[in-house]
Amino acid sequence: MKRKTIAIDFDDTICDTNRAFLFFNKVKHNNSVPYSKIKEKDCLYKILKLSSKKEDIIWDEFFTEPNFCFPQPKKEILGVLKYLKEDHKLVIFSAREKRWQTQINKWVNLYAPNIFDEIIFLKNLKNACSTKGPICKKRDFDLLIDDCPEEIASCLKSNVKVIVFDQPWNKKISKKVPRIKSFKQLKNLVNKRENPAIF
Ligand SMILES: [Mg+2]
Repeated sequence: MKRKTIAIDFDDTICDTNRAFLFFNKVKHNNSVPYSKIKEKDCLYKILKLSSKKEDIIWDEFFTEPNFCFPQPKKEILGVLKYLKEDHKLVIFSAREKRWQTQINKWVNLYAPNIFDEIIFLKNLKNACSTKGPICKKRDFDLLIDDCPEEIASCLKSNVKVIVFDQPWNKKISKKVPRIKSFKQLKNLVNKRENPAIF
């Protein structure tokens, strides 16, 4: 039987990137805001009270600081990924900007080597659509786990199964879409093979 493919988003799904970025702002720029305040994805400049240009400059600083841009994964994640790898193909599917992609490769080599069959960057794909749904469909991925409301909407539109990774900015997504708050919950959900919402 063909192994099913689970595609997993990187930022704020596997890796706590926004949380690490807020910590960086607190330590390096004395600008402290609680994580729960991020109600909109990709608009951190608003809660940090910066211009979007300044936010971009600070992201550049952040991604050149190895002590900050490689946050350790939560303990449970690696165990769950190893478990899922036994029966599934695991793929990282990231929409991160090209200029900061090498940090993802480094993070994976550092914390999760030999777990993922592939790392796919949406922005590097030829003739890429702007969202992940159509690519998941085309590549026959069975499931995407993501935190981003736009990516989740694009999967639902493309008829691709999706699990929401719970974050303060995705609370408005329909309750009908399966949601996890931790990778432990992912293991339980995926294990329920008879659950048509998942596989
Ligand atoms: Mg994400």
